[in-house]
Amino acid sequence: MNELSIPRPNNLDAFWMPYSDNKYFKDTPRLLARAEGMLYFTPEGREILDGTAGLWCCNAGHGRREITEAIQKQAAILDFAPTFQLGHPIAFEAAARVAELTPEGLDRVFFTNSGSESADTALKIALAYQRARGQAQRVRLVGRERGYHGVGFGGMSVGGIGPNRKQFGAMLPYVDHLPHTHLPEQNAFSKGLPAHGAHLADELERLVTLHGDTIAAVMVEPLAGSTGVLVPPVGYLKRLRELCDKHGILLIFDEVITGFGRIGTHFGSERLGVTPDIMTMAKGLTNAAVPMGAVAVKNDIYETIIGGTAAGIEFFHGYTYSGHPLAAAAALAAIDIHVRDDLPGRVRAIEDYWQEAAHSMRSAPNVIDIRNHGLIAGIELAPLPGKPTERANRVFRRCFDDGLLVRVTGDIVALSPPLIIEKSHVDRIFTTLADAIHKEA
Ligand code: PLP
Repeated sequence: MNELSIPRPNNLDAFWMPYSDNKYFKDTPRLLARAEGMLYFTPEGREILDGTAGLWCCNAGHGRREITEAIQKQAAILDFAPTFQLGHPIAFEAAARVAELTPEGLDRVFFTNSGSESADTALKIALAYQRARGQAQRVRLVGRERGYHGVGFGGMSVGGIGPNRKQFGAMLPYVDHLPHTHLPEQNAFSKGLPAHGAHLADELERLVTLHGDTIAAVMVEPLAGSTGVLVPPVGYLKRLRELCDKHGILLIFDEVITGFGRIGTHFGSERLGVTPDIMTMAKGLTNAAVPMGAVAVKNDIYETIIGGTAAGIEFFHGYTYSGHPLAAAAALAAIDIHVRDDLPGRVRAIEDYWQEAAHSMRSAPNVIDIRNHGLIAGIELAPLPGKPTERANRVFRRCFDDGLLVRVTGDIVALSPPLIIEKSHVDRIFTTLADAIHKEA
């Protein structure tokens, strides 16, 4: 043990690990004990290059001193105060700062504690808005196959990930789904936005024909991450926007991954050229140092809901920790770094290099598709016969043992490093990954 080693826990039994193969993990634990910049360290002090910004969330890199100090300072000033019928200064400050980054007109910010809570909050806001504007029949929510909006009942039902929905997805009755946009026959190995698939948005017309004026909102990720990186086809989001406008349907973008610089602008909507009515965020908002999420809405949505009640509480929704002082302090510090260090600009400066490095994996064995945009890449592997996910899991383990953290979903390796990445890190990520894919071929 050196002076930077951290003892391994003696007992792994009590922690029921989320989204994990608990049995496998507890037999062969892989632990992260410390982090700094682009690196994690195991309890013994072994270096692991972070190819995933934790879980798509530590955009400014790990252990940012400004964020740590802001949290420490705020904890000493005000540890907690309610935001139900009361307020504390830093929550208002944080909301105003978020509103400076959101697209013009989306200036009202509701705080949550996670992406899942943001998704459910956004759906409730959509329903409340439709009711407040006299469209109470609009109770139907539309998502998309392979969409991920967290694990609350709303987001999970509107989401389109099969295993998540299998047990719990039937609990929300008025939900429908657009088709996913994965067209490998036409789009495999596309760089950036794939050319084919805008027509898939027209499926919303079909749903309107079926359901009439009962659809409240459509929620999609502008770029789907958790399903294994599905980049929107050229023209797809614009078409969705047009159809929502035509039919009085709200468009919600789940920007939990695409927010805070990931694809080269503050939010993905800016880069992709389409503004939603409501957008969710979390993760990069605080650089993940304290859990926090938020939902930004168009002013008209806020005003309609607030104006819809003569007096008293207008929206029966909120969390004990909405606008928590420590999270607000972390958000302010993280946004300062985001703006001062121009993290979106850093993404744009390195994204071509990233793209070429990602696509160099095409010659590795069993690679059947590569998708990328901004600082995101998905490398899809052919599944082992009869053993879906096993090949990618083996690659994940080998990468970890060789000093690289990647994320796998299905048989797709998803990469989303901190936005402070340098070219030398890009080289190391793809060299280690290529080596792992070769060894597991
Ligand atoms: N929405 C999207 C697009 C996400 O990618 C995620 C998590 O990856 C979530 C929602 C859920 O966020 P959380 O895990 O913070 O609840």
